[in-house]
Amino acid sequence: MSLIVQKFGGSSVADAASIKRVAARIVETKQAGNDVVVVVSAMGDTTDELLELANEVTETPAPREMDMLLTAGERISMALVAMAIRSLGHDARSFTGSQAGMITDSQHGAARIVDVTPGRVKDALSEGAIAIVAGFQGFNRDSGDITTLGRGGSDTSAVALAAALDADVCEIFTDVDGIFTADPRSVPLAHKIDRITSEEMLELAANGAKVLYIRAVEFARRHGVTIHVRSSFNHNEGTIVYNPKEGVEVEEPIITGVATDLSQAKITVVGVPDVPGKAAEIFTTIANAGINIDMIVQNVSANESGTTDISFTLPQTEGEAALAALKADEKGIGFASVKYDDKIGKLSVVGAGMKTNSGVSAQLFTALFEAGINIEMISTSEIRISVVTRADTINTAVLAVHTAFGLDSDTEAIVHAGTGR
Ligand code: ADP
Ligand code: ASP
Ligand code: MG
Repeated sequence: MSLIVQKFGGSSVADAASIKRVAARIVETKQAGNDVVVVVSAMGDTTDELLELANEVTETPAPREMDMLLTAGERISMALVAMAIRSLGHDARSFTGSQAGMITDSQHGAARIVDVTPGRVKDALSEGAIAIVAGFQGFNRDSGDITTLGRGGSDTSAVALAAALDADVCEIFTDVDGIFTADPRSVPLAHKIDRITSEEMLELAANGAKVLYIRAVEFARRHGVTIHVRSSFNHNEGTIVYNPKEGVEVEEPIITGVATDLSQAKITVVGVPDVPGKAAEIFTTIANAGINIDMIVQNVSANESGTTDISFTLPQTEGEAALAALKADEKGIGFASVKYDDKIGKLSVVGAGMKTNSGVSAQLFTALFEAGINIEMISTSEIRISVVTRADTINTAVLAVHTAFGLDSDTEAIVHAGTGR
């Protein structure tokens, strides 16, 4: 007998009919002789709707109350899924994040899981029931308060439970057939990847492929959990995300996938004195404001003025805080002005085979040149190359790059549901 954790995303539990369909799928897994633990997201766009509602009530919702509000979404689906399973004649019990032992730190809106104590889930399984757990939520022991794990965090809940229960597999059910070579909503000829290393998936997730939440991939990597991303709308095999064993050769495609990210902004600090220590001062100011930056570019110094410009990218959501922090230190650091630009897009190509193949950058830049797209910034890791372009060219860019690296399939991918938010 296997223990299987199954997570159903919002698009898979969007309405009553979907909930019944998902319940039948869960029962099928149970009847095949498995123990089943289910993690559910909020129905459809519930989380977005609750966020909008909060913002209509106040511009500055208290983080604690926001988490109280948002966790209601997953509570609704967990109870409905449990009811639907019971109506099919199987025992099912729903649990909130705290009842399921998802212990987190105290950071509302972006809490990290620090411990998982799923005693009640284990009891339910040993009594032959199916356990349904509300995703995306946890509990902080010190404050006694409810927390959320960040948008898309139900994936992390599922992987963390799979690790704590030593499950055989963590199945992530969604509205596409698995992980594709690009988002099938913007690249219709993207094709499904059968197997991908967690290292590559981490790079794709970190660079905008939101089919899996980055912290879930990190968790799976650290705890050796195998993830199977698949569709809740059919029984096709999906994509296995795995950790290759030390020393075992795997055949690595040069480019595994392409990801895009429109959530970043670019800040340029203009007229920075070109003397040692200024970059340190700027990025200390940014770090002290708790802001995560991604790419950095420093221009060649203009000889006459003895100053230079430094640009960096960061999440748009942190733009205001970064500008305020820099303004506060403007005199001390001695730069001339700051420019903010949120009309940028980032495109990344990822592939473990890049480590041993030269010419990938040349091929990428040529494809972008031929599509008439200007590159503003470049950054690389061992298995990734990213470029920043204008936001309104990103769709053209991803289509061109996907074709140039020979990733196009003969048939169009099917996206079953959802708005893609
Ligand atoms: P869920 O509601 O199941 O959590 P998400 O919307 O979070 O679903 O994730 C599924 C969506 O991720 C797909 O509909 C697809 O548009 C998007 N996506 C982005 N990049 C990829 C990719 N490389 N492969 C598959 N889907 C992707
Ligand atoms: N409902 C939450 C969200 O929309 C968590 C999730 O779906 O994973 O972000
Ligand atoms: Mg998701």
